[in-house]
Amino acid sequence: MTDIKKITRKNIEKLTPYSSARDEFKETDGIFLDANENSIGSLSGDNLNRYPDPHQLNLKREISKIYQINSENIFLGNGSDEVIDLLVRAFCEPKIDKIMLFPPTYGMYKVVANINDITIIEIPLTDDFQLQTDKIISKLNENIKLIFICSPNNPSGNSFHKKDIIEILDNSNGIVIVDEAYIQFSEKDSLLNELEKYDNLIILQTFSKAIGMANIRLGMGFGNAQIISILNKIKFPYNINGLTQNVALKSISNIKRQNSSIKKIIVEKKKMVKSITKFSFVKKVFPSDANFLLVKFDNSERIYQFLLKNQIIVRDRSKEKNCENCLRITIGKSSENKKLISTLKSIERIKD
Ligand SMILES: *Cc1c(COP(=O)(O)O)cnc(C)c1O
Repeated sequence: MTDIKKITRKNIEKLTPYSSARDEFKETDGIFLDANENSIGSLSGDNLNRYPDPHQLNLKREISKIYQINSENIFLGNGSDEVIDLLVRAFCEPKIDKIMLFPPTYGMYKVVANINDITIIEIPLTDDFQLQTDKIISKLNENIKLIFICSPNNPSGNSFHKKDIIEILDNSNGIVIVDEAYIQFSEKDSLLNELEKYDNLIILQTFSKAIGMANIRLGMGFGNAQIISILNKIKFPYNINGLTQNVALKSISNIKRQNSSIKKIIVEKKKMVKSITKFSFVKKVFPSDANFLLVKFDNSERIYQFLLKNQIIVRDRSKEKNCENCLRITIGKSSENKKLISTLKSIERIKD
């Protein structure tokens, strides 16, 4: 059992949160003269003059039905990035506490830790991008409050073995955050089923990738109600704007249709792997459970610049741990992927 109270920063535990007008009077009918809004209307002509629900109750109720998780176990953030930031601020005492990362991985964990002056312990992934579980466990200690595991991992694209994640969960007194931003593209199971067993597990998912709504900035954290209530206590009162809440509600009723775009992306990915593997300047295409491929080239800088000149923008990951000469390529629309392949073919012709 993780003692959540014990690992929370003392100032956060003692904090009296901001109480918004909407917290103090929750009915929907009445004459609302309590929040200094413009009662007459919005400049844009839309009905945007009232503050949104600070607790996103309707949206959480719908997410709760779809995921079969109680609302008290759901936190909604302005992107998963907000959830990552709040976890660090709630549990890590600057200059004293630490987080653990497994590079190469998603860059925001490190940036958020650096902003908050939190030391980072890095245990690199193996050459085939798996967790060094024994080494990780041997390095755990009381000051390591958060462990970030990104699975499927960005930028490598692979998933970690479930037994390794479970072993880390079993051995950590801190909170283990499993970032499942790409889980819908994977055939592997989400760890959502483990939430009941582990009170130190937080799972992050997002509307930005498979759901196709990166623009609305909506991330979800699932886990222990005690941890969720601490995040609720320190978030900005209206962190999820009303436009986002409304659009997310609309998309949820259509979530089945979503499966077809995921399937299309997976078909496109298979085609892309086949075509891209054939180029002589491609050294390796790493196995991917996500909507992108990490590709090792003989000279990634040359390829990157050539693609850029042809207005194809990919992500240079060559400076990341164990990613020398690697570019990360998002799977696009069929026409976009064809253009990428034909552009790469023209490089091969130049070479001949
Ligand atoms: C894209 C991505 C996210 C999503 O962040 P949002 O703030 O929800 O857009 C989270 N984690 C990883 C690993 C990602 O690649």
